[in-house]
Amino acid sequence: MNDADCLFCKIVAGDIPSTKVAETERVLAFRDIHPKAPVHVLVIPKDHYANTAALAAADPALAGDLLAVAADVAAAEGVDQSGWRLFANTGDDGGQDVYHVHFHVVGGKPLGPMLAA
Ligand code: 5GP
Ligand code: ZN
Repeated sequence: MNDADCLFCKIVAGDIPSTKVAETERVLAFRDIHPKAPVHVLVIPKDHYANTAALAAADPALAGDLLAVAADVAAAEGVDQSGWRLFANTGDDGGQDVYHVHFHVVGGKPLGPMLAA
């Protein structure tokens, strides 16, 4: 499944370049173009799902694959001991800008409180 108007589908297709850090048959991980920390990687399914709820409903095993790749990325980036954060912004209040589900893997410095005040 692929959405012709979706930025991350274009990255999966290679139509928009990205810096890949990990890949499996169904999952791609690449560096965020505007990193918020020394490590900031996005982990996405190659198939298009708008958000975590859509992914979990359609294919929970694939959601698990994303978690596994996120943990592998954290280890490969060297933050598995120092600590890291995994999050998926969802919808308007969640601050989601790209409606192709993605987990942010962030670390490499103390990240502070979970939410801005
Ligand atoms: P969201 O706000 O939807 O949770 O996260 C979208 C993320 O995608 C942002 O952190 C943003 O910096 C990143 N992003 C937006 N456009 C591109 C792009 O073309 N390439 C890459 N690698 N990241 C992007
Ligand atoms: Zn997409």
